[in-house]
Amino acid sequence: MEMLGLLRRIVQEVNSASHLDAALRVIVSRVREAMSTEVCSVYLLDPDTNRYLLMATEGLNQESIGRVSLNHSEGLVGLVGVREEPLNLEDAPTHPHFRFFPETGEDKFRAFLGVPIIHHRKLLGVLVIQQQARRLFDEREEAFLVTVSAQLAAVIAHSEASGIVSGLSFAGQQARDVCFKGAAGANGVAIGEALVLFPPADLNAVPDKIIENTVAEQQAFDAAIAAVRQDIRQVGEKLSGQLRPEERALFDVYLGMLDDAAIPGEVKAKIAAGQWAQGALRQVILEYVGHFESISDSYLSERAVDIRDLGQRVLAYLQQHASQVPREFPERTILVSDELTPAMLGAVPRDRLVALVSVRGSSNSHVAILARAMNLPCVMGAIELPAARLDGMELIVDGYNGDVFSHPSADLKGYYDHIIDEERQVSTDLEKLRDLPCVTLDGFSISLWVNTGLMTDVMRSLSHGAEGVGLYRTEVPFMINDRFPSELEQRDCYREQLEAFAPNPVTMRTLDIGGDKKLTYFPIHEENPFLGWRGIRITLDHPEIFLVQVRAMLKASEGLNNLSILLPMVSNVTEVEEALRLINRVYWEVREEGIDVVMPPVGVMVEVPSAVFQVKEIAELVDFVSVGSNDLTQYLLAVDRNNPRVANLYHALHPAVLQALYKISLDAKAVGKPLSICGELAGDPGGAILLAAMGYHTLSMNAANLPRVKSVLRSITLRWAEDVLRRCLATDTPEVVRSILELSLKEAGFEFFTRPTGQASSSA
Ligand code: PEP
Ligand code: MG
Repeated sequence: MEMLGLLRRIVQEVNSASHLDAALRVIVSRVREAMSTEVCSVYLLDPDTNRYLLMATEGLNQESIGRVSLNHSEGLVGLVGVREEPLNLEDAPTHPHFRFFPETGEDKFRAFLGVPIIHHRKLLGVLVIQQQARRLFDEREEAFLVTVSAQLAAVIAHSEASGIVSGLSFAGQQARDVCFKGAAGANGVAIGEALVLFPPADLNAVPDKIIENTVAEQQAFDAAIAAVRQDIRQVGEKLSGQLRPEERALFDVYLGMLDDAAIPGEVKAKIAAGQWAQGALRQVILEYVGHFESISDSYLSERAVDIRDLGQRVLAYLQQHASQVPREFPERTILVSDELTPAMLGAVPRDRLVALVSVRGSSNSHVAILARAMNLPCVMGAIELPAARLDGMELIVDGYNGDVFSHPSADLKGYYDHIIDEERQVSTDLEKLRDLPCVTLDGFSISLWVNTGLMTDVMRSLSHGAEGVGLYRTEVPFMINDRFPSELEQRDCYREQLEAFAPNPVTMRTLDIGGDKKLTYFPIHEENPFLGWRGIRITLDHPEIFLVQVRAMLKASEGLNNLSILLPMVSNVTEVEEALRLINRVYWEVREEGIDVVMPPVGVMVEVPSAVFQVKEIAELVDFVSVGSNDLTQYLLAVDRNNPRVANLYHALHPAVLQALYKISLDAKAVGKPLSICGELAGDPGGAILLAAMGYHTLSMNAANLPRVKSVLRSITLRWAEDVLRRCLATDTPEVVRSILELSLKEAGFEFFTRPTGQASSSA
């Protein structure tokens, strides 16, 4: 059989295994069979003891499972792990590293091939095959085993994490303070109860949930099955005239699958055992799907598609039913999802929501930015977190370090309770700064503006003493709708923002969708969305959207005259010229309607490398320039801001980014155009020091960060900041820049604003 098909089947089978031991058993038996060899074994490295344990084998004595244990550099297994490379030996027992365990009975096996199992740079264990004959495994065999191991690493990591979450750590010990690592999404810490949200009608995403009222779940399930039967019958009748009898028979096959004796019977057994209907349905359907897909007969393997389709249909009815039952939210809800979306943030009442956790995404995803705006601790990209198993569990979220803890001990809770108290104290102290100006000790004024999107941002901004809005993300109201808002709806919404801040300026950015900002009603499918149809590229291609939006903005500003317009994602001069032409046209049309508005200042966001090198040319055309450091960092470093795999490479303080920011400031000054910055860097106290020193005298940030930044800037001199900047610009790695800043903040008395460190005692 061809290798990829074989691998796919092994991975599928392993994925549907219920726990780690079962998954490893499947791996050793299938790999041994596929490679026609005599022994296949998996040794996993216990992170607590740093020892390998034989976890599963086919071919060695079964009694040695769980007994054979080697330290991390012992034996051939240890050698594979230390070198992190395959080891292919013709006659293993003669190798100086060979270590003999009599209980395995492995002395008769001469040929040995071991490959490391590595997931995200972490060594999980070693996969070994052996044979009696004295021979070298050939190149194809070696390549196959390396491929199997690379594919299985993620599956093993995931089942290991799931095992830990069910309360057991490696080799069956009781788990405590288990830490899942992610990226710091929004500062703050919280202790609460997990509530897992998942996208509707996606069978794979349905989490497990233990329930007590099994009768109600059985009833909901019966009703869903009856509704699906009814749908299938109706479609069958409608099509009966157009189908041949053998095609019509397919509908009977479908109906047959819904008989109690088949799938529903198994689902009901799982419900009776305490699993909720949706989880039971997922388990049974995916088991069947995996089974059918692993059959080589193409007719039968195609049936997997039918079964999945049936499962989706039943799920849709179950979810419809569930949405009608009023929901109880834990008092301190921690929202957990495989992929958190802005729309999900509205699902839980604000007074019960204490933190957010997303398996996908990273600190610079827009949902993290919203979390910061809502002052909710948030961890993004916790890729090892088995979200589906967390519902109802007690968790600690540490948004400073990007850690999520399950099974917290009393000690760990005490430690975090202390941080929560400290945070409360700091924010009470900061409130006192509200009406004080942001002036450095040597008399330089820095304007602190806010980024908004939600109405709650406006309230918080005002209470934190914001002097204007540097970025109103207009896509936010577009994203929480299910259609494009009308001109009138937009006008009302924009008016609210403009009125709340008048006479202070409000900078409204034209629609910046694409990338990770999706509208459900305007789907865009692209291979490479961050380099694709985004921001101004879309609105120039759809002038009807752009014109309506600008008209709504202008009309909303009537009598207030505090509007500025900002253009996102500009990568060339022509885009600016075209946008200005459209804005001018709308302006004159609005005036012709008899509405008395002034022409608002128009600015361009510098967030694409080409714009960095054309700041002067672009700035000449407009009234001001605003730097979007979030995207600028992603495009300069070629690091997707949303991808947790490369999150460790995303550094807004990378020396290359600092050089670019400095150049922009000098060029904007050279042509005499006002300059501001509205990326997240402006809200980082260390970042704000560097930006002020570079000449950015308007910093726009999340309202939650504003008091901290004000407090730091009021306590330093610009001279001192310039000295810190000079030292940072002389370094060549982001880590050193971060250390210089942390040290400087500590010296200036702001230890609390450098991230406090958690105390992870074990990690997954
Ligand atoms: C930016 O890119 O820095 C920015 C402010 O815009 P957004 O985060 O909305 O892409
Ligand atoms: Mg941007």
